[in-house]
Amino acid sequence: MKKERFPPLEKLAAGILGGERALLGRALTLAESTREDDRDQAQRLLERLLPATGQALRVGITGVPGVGKSTLLESLGSWLTASGKKVAVLAIDPSSSQSGGSILGDKTRMPRLAADPLAFIRPTPAGGSLGGVARRTRETLLLCEAAGYDVVFVETVGVGQSEVLVASMVDTVLLLLLPGGGDELQGIKRGILESVDLVAVNKADGAGEEAARRARVEYASGLKLIRPALAEWQPPVLLCSGATGQGLPELWQKILDHRALLERSGALADKRRRQAGEWLAAEIESGLTAAFRAAPAVAARLPGLEAAVKSGRAMPPRAAAELIAAFLGEGSP
Ligand code: GDP
Repeated sequence: MKKERFPPLEKLAAGILGGERALLGRALTLAESTREDDRDQAQRLLERLLPATGQALRVGITGVPGVGKSTLLESLGSWLTASGKKVAVLAIDPSSSQSGGSILGDKTRMPRLAADPLAFIRPTPAGGSLGGVARRTRETLLLCEAAGYDVVFVETVGVGQSEVLVASMVDTVLLLLLPGGGDELQGIKRGILESVDLVAVNKADGAGEEAARRARVEYASGLKLIRPALAEWQPPVLLCSGATGQGLPELWQKILDHRALLERSGALADKRRRQAGEWLAAEIESGLTAAFRAAPAVAARLPGLEAAVKSGRAMPPRAAAELIAAFLGEGSP
């Protein structure tokens, strides 16, 4: 008899709802698979579990490498599990799609949390496009919610595109900054700052404390120039230290305050509707592009037209129109 690669859907669903880590792990592997039959199975599992999702606090954490994300997640996460909360840490790693190496989500970066029975750390599967990484993270987030995780952190390196993706899947985005000063803020794209809900100047400890205080004032005045996503919420700038744990309870309280405001004002429901729409749009786009490139009529013409465009013999809009016409013509009798 052929050995099934994954447990039956019923068993996976029941195991996840029962909070069984091993089965959650299997389901995540299923959701990460690119095989057609696995994708289909994963979608059916997610549809089954959808009613059990949506209750977690979804928090994005971003900042440059070295700002202290993993140290902070390790202490904040352990502090939360100590009070009985179940915490998951996921990662979107833009470098993994290019280099194949992952600088995030590595369990060795958070050894205490990795050994904590109430915590779950999932490294980003390397490879594929950023869009593919985003899809897997969204699905992982839903599976963790169905498994009863109260808080899901989505961590990313602050390099641009990836923060926008994180903002499209969480409720609250936390930007960690170094006690460097206001110049650092100028290097961050406006679009990213507009999606930030909380800013924390990290490493506000020891010799760094004074510099962090000064940086806080500069950052706060810089942020006043940015239009906040919610009129009632001017993103606060806090001080914290992942290393000593100072400021973490205050930081957590702000995350709770932000979530409470989102709920009270109806903005949470709006946000999640918008995020579902964005996910649909992204799926349509990537699905269409894949189908387009795979279509024989397109594949036959693409290399020639590409060469013609590159050598200046053809205009890109006309070449694209010809390819699209060939693609659309293929489906008709
Ligand atoms: P990540 O790349 O953003 O995940 O940063 P890490 O958490 O790996 O931290 C980078 C470096 O900064 C490490 O050497 C940490 O020991 C140090 N670090 C992290 N958090 C703090 C902090 O709160 N205070 C101080 N003084 N150092 C810290």
